[in-house]
Order: sequence, then structure tokens, then C-alpha cells
Amino acid sequence: MSSRLQSLRAKLEEAKLDAILISQPENRRYLSGFAGSAGYLLVSSDAAVLATDFRYTEQASRQAPEFEVVRIQGDIPRWFPPLASRLKDRRLGFEGGDLAFSRYQKLAEAASQMEGMRLVATTDLVEALRAVKDAEEIRRIAAAVELADAAFESVASAAVAGMTEKQVAWDLERHIREHGGEAVSFDVIVASGPNSALPHHMPSDRLLREGEPVVVDLGARLEGYCSDLTRTICLGEPNETFRRVYDTVLGAQLTAQATIAAGMTGEEADRLGRVVIEQAGYGDAFGHSLGHGVGLAVHEAPRLGDGSADILMENAVFTIEPGVYLSGWGGVRIEDVVVLENKGARSLTRARKIDFGGKAR
Ligand code: ZN
Ligand code: ZN
Repeated sequence: MSSRLQSLRAKLEEAKLDAILISQPENRRYLSGFAGSAGYLLVSSDAAVLATDFRYTEQASRQAPEFEVVRIQGDIPRWFPPLASRLKDRRLGFEGGDLAFSRYQKLAEAASQMEGMRLVATTDLVEALRAVKDAEEIRRIAAAVELADAAFESVASAAVAGMTEKQVAWDLERHIREHGGEAVSFDVIVASGPNSALPHHMPSDRLLREGEPVVVDLGARLEGYCSDLTRTICLGEPNETFRRVYDTVLGAQLTAQATIAAGMTGEEADRLGRVVIEQAGYGDAFGHSLGHGVGLAVHEAPRLGDGSADILMENAVFTIEPGVYLSGWGGVRIEDVVVLENKGARSLTRARKIDFGGKAR
């Protein structure tokens, strides 16, 4: 944690800030180790304070030994001035992407009473640090990936026509929880037949049928870290459309995985997969980004997509998840989590893909 605080302080200096108020939950946990669901960090060049309420003070002292834990009560105008009065200087950053407008108004009201205090909105200061993982973080993500893989293998091999999407989703969630997962990292997606043309379909009472695509998208959370896995399966014999679309998506997925390199932008990485799908004539049917960072949050930096200037750094962990969605028929999406090393992307995901023996491999 101390190296994280150091990195943040270097960022503060770069941004000419004297201190920063951290409110974003994953950033709070990343910097302090405190896993509770409420509280603020106030970090300056010589202070690191964790302000939280009665419910969490004991937990915070245990989990965040590098921080001075201060118990707070009530609204921002009540506890912020006494806390901030110890700051020598007063250019205070806050997280513009997180602080809700109503809370910002209260902070601004409190700050206006304090001489020389100036609030400065910051964007993605801590998110940029979080985009590069250390060995322990990669270990935790790999464990969460392994758990989602196991849930998929177990449930997919038992899935039969006549089950509902909801049943399959619950079986996946139950597997994760019964095998040590703290939670699912997002609501499980099971989308069958035409429903699979909707990238984020909510599991319904629709019955699974043979010969249709079934998109299954799930993730586990373990020791705070998330995984994210998508597989598309077919119960019974897949038809020609399924084979063609699946081979295209798999080709895009494997091509991107084999050619992504550190130093590329998120947009350049996105192109690597997208071009394969465009060449197969499905360009308009791939309407979302190629991937996203995974860590304490299931969606975080870097973003691999159109217009993303995020630089893919060594030890970034992100998904590669192309998809093709044909309205009325269905869709295919394949998603792995990879860690970017100096030789390229290494997949953490082991869950089976379908091998039609096409040119994709
Ligand atoms: Zn996913
Ligand atoms: Zn994803």
C-alpha cells in the first residue's frame, strides 16, 4: 500500500494539488486496504486520513494501518472543516467522476467557509494507477478467473434443452458462491436464441432449445478482485450460421489476443479484433468495445475501444471480447481475461471454446 500512496502523491504534485479527497469505493480500497462500503480518504504530502463512521472504525484500523482513522458523523459540512483545517495548503482535489452533485454541493458549501480552500475536480488519477497490476493483484484475478471457468464448465456440461435462462444463471451463481466466491462480479447473463442478439440480456423464463446459440457471461469476485468470462454454447447440433458466426468471433478474439502489445492505445487494440469481423462482413453487427480492464471493479481502465487513447501498459489486465449480434437470430460473444506481458497478452482464462476446425486456429 505504501508504494500506492507514494504514486498518488507523485500524481498530486504533477497536478499541482496539495491534497485529494477520495470518495470512489474501489479507489478507497486500492489505496488504503479498507474494504468497507463507506468513508473518505484525505491524502496530502504528509497526511493520510481515513474518515469513516461508527460502523467501520474498527475494521478500518485493522485493514488500513497506514492511515489515521478518524470517526465522522453526519453530513460533509459537519465533519469536513475540522478535518481539512489541518491541511497546510488548500488546493484540494476531489474525484469529479464519482462525487454525486448533491455531495459536491455540500463539500463546496463547507469549503467556501474555509479561507483559501479551493476545490479542483480530478479525473481518473487513481484509476490510472489501478490500470497496472502488481503480482498479488494478478494472483487474485487469476483465482477469480479460475472460479468462473469452473462454474461455466460444470454448469454448461449439465445444461439441457428445456431449462430456463434463469435456472442456468442461478446454477452459475450458486456454483460461484458454493466454491468460495464472495459474490458474482455482476448479474449473470444467460441469453438464448434471439435473446442472445442483445449483448446484456437479462435471464428470462425462456426455455433453452437445441441448435440455438446460448451466450453465457459471468464473473466471480474473490478477495475483492473480479473476473469476467463469456462463452457461447449450442445444445445439440449447431447450424451453418452458428458455425460461421462463431468462427468469425473466435478468429477475431484469437487474432487480437495474439497481436495486442504493450504501448498500443485502446483504439489500436480494438481495431485488431474488429478488422477480422469487418472482413467477414459482420462489421455492423459488432457494436461494442473489444474489451475493458478488470480488477477491483469488473469494468475499469484501460478501455479497448473506438476513441480510447488509454495506453496499454505492461501488467495491465483486461478482457478481449468481440461479439456478433444478428437481430432475430441471436449472437455469439467470446471473452477471455488476459494479462499483458512484455511478450504479449497471456490468457488467464481456460474455459473451453468450441473447435469447428475453422481457419480461426
Ligand atoms: Zn463479460
Ligand atoms: Zn466484459
